[in-house]
Amino acid sequence: TSFGFKEVREEEKSQMVGTVFSSVASNYDVMNDVMSGGLHRLWKDRLVSKLNPFPGMKHLDVAGGTGDVSFKILETINNIKRRALQDVLEDDLMEETRIYVCDINPNMLNVGKRRALERGLRENKSLVWVEGDAEALRFEDDTMDGYTIAFGIRNVTHIEKVLAEAYRVLKRGGRFLCLELSQVEVPLFKELYNYYSFSVIPAIGELVAGDRDSYQYLVESIRRFPPQMRCYCELHKMNISLINAYYVARQVQDSTDIDIF
Ligand code: SAM
Repeated sequence: TSFGFKEVREEEKSQMVGTVFSSVASNYDVMNDVMSGGLHRLWKDRLVSKLNPFPGMKHLDVAGGTGDVSFKILETINNIKRRALQDVLEDDLMEETRIYVCDINPNMLNVGKRRALERGLRENKSLVWVEGDAEALRFEDDTMDGYTIAFGIRNVTHIEKVLAEAYRVLKRGGRFLCLELSQVEVPLFKELYNYYSFSVIPAIGELVAGDRDSYQYLVESIRRFPPQMRCYCELHKMNISLINAYYVARQVQDSTDIDIF
């Protein structure tokens, strides 16, 4: 592809990603905390606060895995509802709220459904679990108010297909937010980070999850992901990243609102 995953053959990559996430599913959440020192929670909070969810919204969380981002979105919407005075109106809107957790891997979704059960959300009509491929979504055009993909886009085979699908399902004015890890550029911190990710993370993977190879893949996939390449955007008069650049290019042709942060 044009996004730098040439070394791995396409079918090999999707097969490998399938194996990795089937294998890590049961330990995924605890490993996220261990590997990031809990930081992933703060990053996801930031993502959801930037999304600015609202009662009645239709939202698609792609590569949603065990549901972390979707739980946070639903929690935010429920808090808005609790604060709202017009309970009746808000109740109607809650009926309409739909948050779709879409992931290609049934094992990850099953862990997510179990977590939903533990949180008393299993019967919640607002949360819908969907097995599906980010590159070929089974949702209608122009149906979503929001689209998030957290730590997912580097695992797909064709990033451009994922972006095109996101664009297709979003309504005009709908919001696309992508949270991803990339490389550290600051000297010294970069060396520390490299040591941590290439030596410490696979060792933790072996120790905690008994699976060194999958964690080796996760570290590798971050290294292969495009760095925070910056380009100057005339439209926004600011430096933006590669993925935002794609969206801005589309925005020039169409007025779908893309927020850059
Ligand atoms: N978003 C979740 C989070 O932040 O905790 C899970 C992220 S996890 C690192 C990456 C997820 O992407 C896995 O659950 C994996 O199954 C999913 N995935 C990989 N390729 C996919 C694809 N083509 N379509 C949908 N999901 C995919």
